[in-house]
Amino acid sequence: MAKYIFVTGGVVSSLGKGVITASIGFLLKRHGYVVKLLKIDPYLNVDPGTMNPFQHGEVFVTDDGAETDLDLGHYERFLHQPMRRENNLTAGQIYESIIKKERRGDFLGQTVQVVPHLTDEIKQRIRGLGVDADIVVVEVGGTVGDIESLPFLEAIRQMRLEEGHGNTFAIHLTLVPYLSAADEVKTKPTQHSVQKLREIGIQPDMLICRGERSIPPDAIRKIALFANLPPERVIEAPIVSTIYEMPLLFHRSELDAMILEGLGLKPKGKLELSDWQTFVERVKKPSGGKVRVAICGKYVNIRDSYKSIYEALVHAGAALNVRVEPVLVDSTLVEKHGAEKYLSDVDGVIVPGGFGKRGIEGKIAAIQFARTRKIPFLGICLGMQLTIVEFARNVLNLKGANSTEFDPKTPYPVIDLLPEEEGFEVYGGTLRLGASPIRLKRNTLAFSLYQMDIIHERHRHRYEVNPSYRNALEDKGLVVSGETTDGRLIEIIELPDHPFFIACQYHPEFKSKPLSPHPLFVGLVKAAKAVRTRS
Ligand code: GLN
Repeated sequence: MAKYIFVTGGVVSSLGKGVITASIGFLLKRHGYVVKLLKIDPYLNVDPGTMNPFQHGEVFVTDDGAETDLDLGHYERFLHQPMRRENNLTAGQIYESIIKKERRGDFLGQTVQVVPHLTDEIKQRIRGLGVDADIVVVEVGGTVGDIESLPFLEAIRQMRLEEGHGNTFAIHLTLVPYLSAADEVKTKPTQHSVQKLREIGIQPDMLICRGERSIPPDAIRKIALFANLPPERVIEAPIVSTIYEMPLLFHRSELDAMILEGLGLKPKGKLELSDWQTFVERVKKPSGGKVRVAICGKYVNIRDSYKSIYEALVHAGAALNVRVEPVLVDSTLVEKHGAEKYLSDVDGVIVPGGFGKRGIEGKIAAIQFARTRKIPFLGICLGMQLTIVEFARNVLNLKGANSTEFDPKTPYPVIDLLPEEEGFEVYGGTLRLGASPIRLKRNTLAFSLYQMDIIHERHRHRYEVNPSYRNALEDKGLVVSGETTDGRLIEIIELPDHPFFIACQYHPEFKSKPLSPHPLFVGLVKAAKAVRTRS
């Protein structure tokens, strides 16, 4: 029978609940338990796939083609285990399922209500993960007190009762702010947030408190008293220089032992964490200097939009013992002022994925700059499509070449919809999504990086390289080094007369892990390091 851990948040959002949940999952897995994770998002979208990155940050794509919350990226990276559609639950999914059942007549004349119908549905989804797990860690998005998260919290309250004492553990993460005017940390917001949670019927078993200043022992005692907890169950979230340090510090403060004790499970004596420790040390203090890699995109207001790319650069940097400084470059500014101004002192350039026309010409200018100035380059998804556009315009001299996504009347539609994609009517979940096999060509950069004939990578796109231009592109020196196993679609392109120039139709960043960095990112950072050493 699985045990359940529930992680809720209070006071404000953005406290790093995802990383904390992932860290807990990581430690429990290292204790030898089979751990499953679930992220609950209380919004009404069925998935974040249709949401603007400015609102939601990156959409993380799983092998099975689910468009999910970016916390699933943390879960995969910390636990080194693939997440699936079942690991992200939204209110939209719950309502969609309930309404389908009601229309089918499954409720046989009953009035369909939030309690018990919606809450039953939620519990069923949570317990579904427990079927083949020892421990399920459930992270509830949003903040306690939000109207939309109420049904989820109510389902958790019921589950705690039904599963019985010692089979569930509730962790509440809150903010303990420092007020400079009073020169003290304030416990009141946390007190109120715990009160709110208890009002709903959930008595937390542990509080994790986050603040910018350390929390003095008397404040911890005060919080504990109001939260009805022993002071040792009020834990201060450590301030870390890299998120990957979090599980190590939690382990040092015996958080994992306390959770296991609360669940009546045995901790493993001494955990073997040396591989992770070495990785963290290399992230914190790499001995091989620094490289600067530009990410030229349009979602530059929030770092979360390119989360997995940042993390993949951290992993590659640790593998090569260098610090990778990511430089976010706004493609709309490149469009206005030219690439030189923004890219002349970087050692590598990434043009990431994206949708819509804004900033496209800036990205094309950045690609041209990287190609002609021989700066190591990695194009991802839209970045790959624009690499084709740039090459078609400037090497094949096809003036006005474009993707039909941006110019439906282009004389040279080098990127286009496949016939089966034309006339799509529904936006949600209708892209080419998830992992599929790709055959690599021998004696190419791609093959030298992967050292495999067949790879599996994750997709999230609708447009494709137009196969009718393939011969013309290849005649001018562009190498197609990866294609779908049926040979229909182009997956990877590269330029041999360049130190490192490669672009792929898929998203390599989703598969990079701390202890197994992605070959394309390792290749890029290695090439960037070579540039830096030369100059
Ligand atoms: N907009 C492009 C397409 O739909 C690229 C998508 C992406 O970069 N994820 O094909």
